[in-house]
Amino acid sequence: MNRLNFRVEAQAAGSRARAGLFQTLHNEVRTPLFMPVGTQATVKAQLPQSLEDSGSQILLANTYHLLLRPGPEVFRRMGGIHGFMSWKRSVLTDSGGFQIFSLPHSRSMTEAGAVFQSYTDGRTMLLSPEVSIETQKAIGSDIMMALDQCVPSTADESVARAALDITHRWAVRSLAARGDSPAAMFAIIQGALFRELRREGVLRLREMAFDGLAIGGLAVGEAKAQREDVCEFTADLMPADQPRYLMGVGTPLDILEAVHRGVDMFDCIIPTQVAQRGGVFTSRGYLQLRRGVYKFAQDKLDPACDCPTCARYSRAYLHHLTKTKETLGWQLLGKHNLHFYHRLMREIRESIVAGRFLELYREKRELLHEDDLDNPVLIQGRKPVKPRCLGDYEVRVAPEGFASIRQISSGEIMHSRTPPLEEARLLYVDQSRLAERLLPAECGSEETLVIWDVGLGAAANAMAAIRCYEAQAAAGGPLRAMHLVSFENDLDSLRLALTYNRDFLYLRHGGPAGVIEKGRWQSKEFPGLSWELIEGDFLKSISEDRLHAIPAPEIIFYDPFSRNADDRLWTLDAFRLLLAACRGRSAELFTYSASTAVRATLLAAGFYVAKGRGIADRAETTVALAASAPDARHELLGIEWLEKWNRSGAKVPAWVQPNEQSAFEATIAGHPQFRLNPASLGSVF
Ligand SMILES: [Zn+2]
Repeated sequence: MNRLNFRVEAQAAGSRARAGLFQTLHNEVRTPLFMPVGTQATVKAQLPQSLEDSGSQILLANTYHLLLRPGPEVFRRMGGIHGFMSWKRSVLTDSGGFQIFSLPHSRSMTEAGAVFQSYTDGRTMLLSPEVSIETQKAIGSDIMMALDQCVPSTADESVARAALDITHRWAVRSLAARGDSPAAMFAIIQGALFRELRREGVLRLREMAFDGLAIGGLAVGEAKAQREDVCEFTADLMPADQPRYLMGVGTPLDILEAVHRGVDMFDCIIPTQVAQRGGVFTSRGYLQLRRGVYKFAQDKLDPACDCPTCARYSRAYLHHLTKTKETLGWQLLGKHNLHFYHRLMREIRESIVAGRFLELYREKRELLHEDDLDNPVLIQGRKPVKPRCLGDYEVRVAPEGFASIRQISSGEIMHSRTPPLEEARLLYVDQSRLAERLLPAECGSEETLVIWDVGLGAAANAMAAIRCYEAQAAAGGPLRAMHLVSFENDLDSLRLALTYNRDFLYLRHGGPAGVIEKGRWQSKEFPGLSWELIEGDFLKSISEDRLHAIPAPEIIFYDPFSRNADDRLWTLDAFRLLLAACRGRSAELFTYSASTAVRATLLAAGFYVAKGRGIADRAETTVALAASAPDARHELLGIEWLEKWNRSGAKVPAWVQPNEQSAFEATIAGHPQFRLNPASLGSVF
């Protein structure tokens, strides 16, 4: 019988994340959850009341420390930890194993348990499974942990194997020592970084009558990727109908990653520990309040936080308290950090229940990476700051705060008016109705949707398309595969943006690095999503002899530098070649330019040309259609445009050869587009 009655309330789509619910002896607990650490029956510098207010559901207390002081007898006489520390909600006690094996006290290991010397009075003591459980019963926790032998995650296989075996024998003894206590008990999976040992650990422990399992022995020296790998692999094997607890983890980002991998419970000293030294997690990144930049900062600590600290105190005051090491500073920052953690957990839970966890995950994964966004830390002693440029490109920050890439030789800025990803979404992704087109039911096709991304630049357009695909895939249901083909002759702009990806958050994704390194990238998460990069001159890449290797496009994002920087991609020959490369498909091309010369050239090359939506201070953009029967959704240029062109002093762009000029004019005047439009019949010529 499971003493917690755990049940999964919602399971995220496209992720292992889940929202659960269980009942302890004191309260109903909602997962995923974060448990503040109250080592000595107190969460450092926090009142139980403020822990309650911030949403703490379970506190973690340390059996090892409480065994030594005040000792189990005090808890027995006081009726347990809840009354002792005036805490009404749940308590989880660890087994003491972690402290015994990680703290530098003289100890020796036997089958019976660990023999160690007390740091309070020098006595020699034995921590056996029976002593650990008796102490936890005296403390009166809601969830007890079976005594384990913890080894560093970097231990070699024979050490890890021995620790695993003894942990399992102790698990049996711990369960027996619980007897008929109504408290729940978890066992701890060891096995360092060895998959086989982790697997064996889970399989053996899930046969026993535990109420939940914990992943132990991580967050002690391994790399983040190793931790995530072991966590994912192990969580997958853990029973779905019990809570899964990852011990000692971690930063907000670590927790987010582990929730994504199916973990429900976390504990860590980080929020109160960093608070003591002036560290805070905020919606504007991780701040270190000791820094002088806050001396006169009148702002709220975190504009997006509703905790009591943020409601009342300025960054300048908190900076002062931190500099003077006042206890109040520790208390106020700790309170904020715990609020931050608990709010994150609530947002995660709500997103799982609402079926949009993956969206939240992507958004938070970028934000939680951040150092101080408002006052970036400049590395001392390396002044002047490294110039942020590479080849012909430099990072430029707009007055509005977003970063873009500027081509130094032409002075032209990619996405100068709107943040790059936003502009990419409005101009290319939304206008091409990409989300809708990915649904076979909407567009009547199950073929792979091929997008040509001409002018990869810093990959904003490509990433906007990839995000769109990922959001659609996460929503579930049948979806067409999508293959993105990016063309670029100079990868320095993307390399530069990747180097400064703090300013280009959308690049924090496996795709851009993948196409830069290998020329192609395949999503692991979504098999239907792939991306290739064709490096070199675009027109050469789509020339007749090389075209066969590239699938014909359905959508073209046409975003090279402008005619002023390089007019080669805007000429009649370029557009003719592009139209031929569509190979009869009804491709749609989207571009930022709405100039009469560009539109006339597209028409002369044989495209149908329609008005695109206005973006930022561009009144219009342009859509060009390769189809013989253009899509009625687009508003084709009509008679007014033709009249305007006819009156224009530069009807024929400079790039048209003298001997082609009259043919150019005649092609436009006779373009079927204007015959399709009844209003234009016979009105101009
Ligand atoms: Zn706050």
